Amino acid sequence: MTKKIVISEKDNIGAVLENGKVSEFFVHKGDVLLGDVFLSQVDNILPSIDAAFVNVGLDRMGFIHNSDIQGKGNLKEKVKPKQKLIVQVVKEPTGHKGPRVTTALSLPGRFLVLLPEEKGVNVSKKITSQKERARLKSLVSLLKPVGVGIIVRTEAEGQKESEIQEDIEILLEKWNSIVNSADNTNPPALLYRDQDLLYRVIREACTDDVDEIIVDTSFSQHRASQLLQHWNMQNKIKVTLHKGSEPLLASTGIHKELANALNTKVTLPLGGYLFIQQTEALTVVDVNSGKFTSSASQAETILKTNLQAADEIARQLKLRNIGGMIVVDFIDMSSRMDKLAVLEHFELALQQDKAKPQIGQLSDLGLVELTRHRQGQSLAEVFTKKCDKCNGSGFLVEEFKLSASNTLGEMKAKMNKIKGPFNQGNSNNNQKPNKFNKNKKAPGRPKQEPVIEVLEKVLAPILEEPIYDAPAIEKAEVQGVIKEEKSNKKPSRRAKKSMKKEEAAKERVEIKPESVENKDNKEVEKSAPKRTTPKRGRKKTEVAKNEETA
Ligand SMILES: [Zn+2]
Repeated sequence: MTKKIVISEKDNIGAVLENGKVSEFFVHKGDVLLGDVFLSQVDNILPSIDAAFVNVGLDRMGFIHNSDIQGKGNLKEKVKPKQKLIVQVVKEPTGHKGPRVTTALSLPGRFLVLLPEEKGVNVSKKITSQKERARLKSLVSLLKPVGVGIIVRTEAEGQKESEIQEDIEILLEKWNSIVNSADNTNPPALLYRDQDLLYRVIREACTDDVDEIIVDTSFSQHRASQLLQHWNMQNKIKVTLHKGSEPLLASTGIHKELANALNTKVTLPLGGYLFIQQTEALTVVDVNSGKFTSSASQAETILKTNLQAADEIARQLKLRNIGGMIVVDFIDMSSRMDKLAVLEHFELALQQDKAKPQIGQLSDLGLVELTRHRQGQSLAEVFTKKCDKCNGSGFLVEEFKLSASNTLGEMKAKMNKIKGPFNQGNSNNNQKPNKFNKNKKAPGRPKQEPVIEVLEKVLAPILEEPIYDAPAIEKAEVQGVIKEEKSNKKPSRRAKKSMKKEEAAKERVEIKPESVENKDNKEVEKSAPKRTTPKRGRKKTEVAKNEETA
């Protein structure tokens, strides 16, 4: 196995490469730290305490005292509400107190400290040799541009001109990038963070099995060598300076892996894949089988996919720096032996992780629960923000289309009650339960469509016609419902016939000569035949009932 450490001080990202694949990222992003430079916005000016609150984009406001704001005059003359202000954290936030900030920036380098708002050169008092002090002061005065101040640190003692020059260049580049990003971003925003990434990565990731450390500045090459020497590791590990126009993270493929590590889907070599979904409370990892080619080897393929998934999940948890509760849904296996093999494999894979993930239990539903120690922010927390379209749910809610016509709405409501024809696709698939189709991710199962879509599809061709004439519905096992519709909506043929007979009888009654004589007493005449022919009368009332309910 080859193990390499890649540290890009230019991009503030470090990574450990095992056999060419990233196993761990080191990113200097996250909570507010001492020395952080923010583009803030003045929020509230409080002349009574001679201070102001500035928005630095955290849940707490930054506090700035008048004495920490450059310029002349009183507080109100120096700053105005909503004004953009570049500030640096001089005191980290504690409890519910926000960070204390200043506009007097200082950017520390290895040998020098750049004070962009100051002038002149000051040499550390710890450098006692007058000759050395004079050499450093004149050297730095010569190298630095006009309009910035520099402090020469104790570490500069005895350093070559080239080292000092490189330090000045790095610091000026940092300052330029701060000014540029301040011009191109809206407050509040973090503009710059000074942290010793190199030191942290080497301290945490450099073990005896590392072959090479690749860096992107000659300064970090020098420092890395120094650190290794200090830790007596310099003999085994090669420190390489990356050259060329391509950024180090691009040429090593780390930027691509970083993008992949922010993706929810991770593909496995056998065609299966993982879905890793992080929520605030827990992370859910879903193992999917993907496509199967031969059904005979399904059990074997599922086992292999689950074993691969176990390795990949262990890697991904570390890579994504996922902490807290994690639930893994492996593909269902019927064999107890296979289950045991996967769990054992998972346990072993997790042992490589310094954050010591602990498998809690195997739930009744076959879910594996584990916890992993939280170490700072996860990669997703560092590099992603909530989508403003869906508010982080991952779903865009479609506009609710309300039925325009009353009949359509009624039909939809009726169709909702009828379950027959829409489930045919799925019910055909309902074979005897076995270890494969029992699994909810078994292949070949048609994707279930949302009910409303199915309804619309089924309804489309028959919407013009009365619902009880649709042959598709006739075939369904819904005769009861349809019969009811018929008797309610339309009288049957037999009912029609009897109605006709009644009409005829009515007419016969009406042309009776007696009735002509008694026009004013029609009611009596009409009811008269009912009395004489009670059978017909009963039928008539039945029909009348039908008519009423129709
Ligand atoms: Zn979204």
